[in-house]
Amino acid sequence: MPLYEFHCDECGARFEALVAAGGTTDCPACGGERVSRRWSQISPPRVPVGLTGKAAAESNARRKEREAQRRERSKEKRKRGADRDF
Ligand SMILES: [Zn+2]
Repeated sequence: MPLYEFHCDECGARFEALVAAGGTTDCPACGGERVSRRWSQISPPRVPVGLTGKAAAESNARRKEREAQRRERSKEKRKRGADRDF
């Protein structure tokens, strides 16, 4: 079984434990079950993954609006092009 480093979300303790791959364990300090596994010494990059919540909803709304406007414009362009060509 691999040795993983854990961080307790409840008391903040850091500890190592042998667990099955994908498994988890209880915090030895407080017995809490909310522990996060840390990947050895390599800390994962903290890259924000897009927008969340309200900001994401607003961003989606704006994008949909823009796409609708673009569709309208290209429709008009095609119509004008057709008028000119025929
Ligand atoms: Zn704990």
